[in-house]
Amino acid sequence: MILEICQYGHPVLREKGVPVEAITPEIRQLAADMIETMYAANGVGLAAQQIGLAMRITVIDVAPSEIAWTGETTEGRALPMPLVLINPRLSDTTGEQAGEEGCLSIPAINAEIKRAEQVTVTATDLEGATLQFTCTGLLARAVQHELDHLNGVLFIDRMDAATRVSVAGKLKRMQKETLAELKKRKTALKG
Ligand code: ZN
Repeated sequence: MILEICQYGHPVLREKGVPVEAITPEIRQLAADMIETMYAANGVGLAAQQIGLAMRITVIDVAPSEIAWTGETTEGRALPMPLVLINPRLSDTTGEQAGEEGCLSIPAINAEIKRAEQVTVTATDLEGATLQFTCTGLLARAVQHELDHLNGVLFIDRMDAATRVSVAGKLKRMQKETLAELKKRKTALKG
C-alpha cells in the first residue's frame, strides 16, 4: 500500500523515533508499505517519520542510481536492496563528501550538504538478525540522511547559513500550508 508522505511543517518530522521492540507481522507490513511508497515517489530512502510514525525504522534503495556508492556487509556479502534498517546506529564515520540532497518531505528544495564519506551501520533486519555494513558515497549519504530523520533532524538543518537564509521564505510557506491542511482535516473529522 502506498502511504501518504508527511510534508515539511508536520510536527512528526521533528519527533525522535522510539525503538522497534519486536519484528512483528505489522512491522514487516510497514516495511513493505514504506518500500512501495519510496519507489512510487522515486526516492532513494524513506524514514518512518515521513509516513507519520515516530519509530526507528527506515528503508533505502540506491541500487538504480547512477551515482557512485559501495557497501558490503561485515561478512563481505553484497548488501540486499532494498535495505530495511531497524533501530540503526552509526559508528566509524570518516572523511567528508559534499553533494546535492533533497527530501521527499521537502520537495521544493535541493541543496548541497556535507556528510561523512564513509560510515559503518549496525541495524536489525526483518529476520531479527544483526546487519552490519560499511559504505561510502551515495549509500553513506542516504544512510546519514535517513538516520537523521529518525532523530527528528532534517537536511535543511545541515545547510550552510547562506543557503538556509535563501530558502527560509519557501520553508515558511510550506510549513504554513502543511499546518493549514492538518487543521482542515482535524475540523473535517470533528464535523
Ligand atoms: Zn528526507
